[in-house]
Amino acid sequence: MSTPAFERVQMARHPDRPYAMDLFTTLFTEFVEIHGDRRFADDPAMITGFAKLDGQEVKTNREYTAMLHEIETAQNDIRTREDRILEIMMETDELNAAIKKGEGELKTAEKEIAAERAVLDSETAGLQAEIDKTTAERGHLVAEIDRHVLAIFETTAKGRKGVAVAEAKDGLCTICHVRLRPQVFNEVRKNEQIIQCDSCRRILYFAGNSEASAPVSQM
Ligand SMILES: [Zn+2]
Repeated sequence: MSTPAFERVQMARHPDRPYAMDLFTTLFTEFVEIHGDRRFADDPAMITGFAKLDGQEVKTNREYTAMLHEIETAQNDIRTREDRILEIMMETDELNAAIKKGEGELKTAEKEIAAERAVLDSETAGLQAEIDKTTAERGHLVAEIDRHVLAIFETTAKGRKGVAVAEAKDGLCTICHVRLRPQVFNEVRKNEQIIQCDSCRRILYFAGNSEASAPVSQM
């Protein structure tokens, strides 16, 4: 906003306006005034002297200009660095927020994993107890089985992925699906002796035919 001309004149002539010395003492340090000249006396309207600008001595106009330029460059540099510092501070804030969020998520994930682990540990313990019980039961059963039959069972189990017995139903081995000879199936139906499937060698047992199928004896 520009001041009207008259007001500007009033301000320029104001008794409390800043004088040269006010400016010097504000701008410079260690100002040493030089008085008078060699021909005449001291003129209070003219002020001159030596001083330091930003802590450095300034003696000529050229030095003063160079100094001002240097100061301006330095101030620009400071502004640029301050801007960069601000940017870094803002980036740091963002990163800190991200770290906090990440730490929260990690904590949640760790809690979930711990809960899942507890469930799995409990399930494992349950399964191990079942295995122990079944193993003990197997021990009792094995003791009662004929050694020759047990040998057939164990050899077959080894060669057939642990499944040594197969149900015979409707004239078939229900695991390898091979049709049994009628005479063999009839023997299996009695569940009186160890009979192996001709194809997969599993020990066959009979638990009944499907209701719809006709008895093999009539085939
Ligand atoms: Zn079979």
